Amino acid sequence: MHFLSPLLEKYIQDSSENEPELLKELSRETHLKVIQPRMITGHFQGRVLSLLSKIINPTNILEIGTYTGYSALCLAEGLRKEGQLHTIDINEELTDFQRRYFDKSGFGTQLIQHTGDALQIVPTLNMAFDLIFIDAEKREYPKYFDAVIKKTKPGSIILSDNVLWSGKVVEPLDEKDMATKVLLDYNRMLKNDTRVETVLLPIRDGLTLSRVL
Ligand code: SAH
Ligand code: CA
Repeated sequence: MHFLSPLLEKYIQDSSENEPELLKELSRETHLKVIQPRMITGHFQGRVLSLLSKIINPTNILEIGTYTGYSALCLAEGLRKEGQLHTIDINEELTDFQRRYFDKSGFGTQLIQHTGDALQIVPTLNMAFDLIFIDAEKREYPKYFDAVIKKTKPGSIILSDNVLWSGKVVEPLDEKDMATKVLLDYNRMLKNDTRVETVLLPIRDGLTLSRVL
């Protein structure tokens, strides 16, 4: 997962905003109690998401893949006062964990949790989102994109996470590795989709920024 030397990574993080105390606590508890803690966004990318959200200053945010709520809390930092963040996760065992931190954060009433398959839930949300963060099952990214693009307006931003997949996108392809296959298709699809303009940013595991035209 290290594209840069650990020394450079540390320097980049140390030269960026500090991690808020509540998120440090959330990260600690995730590592202690929840499976696959490496999925959590973490300090540096979290500050990137926070600042991007503050620049966009969205009224409505949609997140696909809540996990323990780290990225949702980062994105919520940029919400307008009257704004809402809708976040979806298929794992109902994480709901109470997320809620405890959401309520401690001061954004509690603005954070709406949905439990279930994002592909079922997104079509039921009757609103346009200014900012969308796609971070759930990699093999479903093209389907998530098709679902969320219908919930955007010109200027909406769609972020797609882990698009470099630990660098596997440039390594010889194992035909059985569906996640890498789909991510290769997905990255090509975003580049060629004339409804959006796209840049792939080499942030952490790859974060693509697409702006709806
Ligand atoms: N955004 C989080 C990490 C998300 S990890 C963070 O940065 O901290 C990916 C999450 O996607 C997992 O919690 C998993 O339960 C969820 N997920 C997987 N398939 C899903 C689906 N079809 N619909 C909604 N959530 C899904
Ligand atoms: Ca991720």
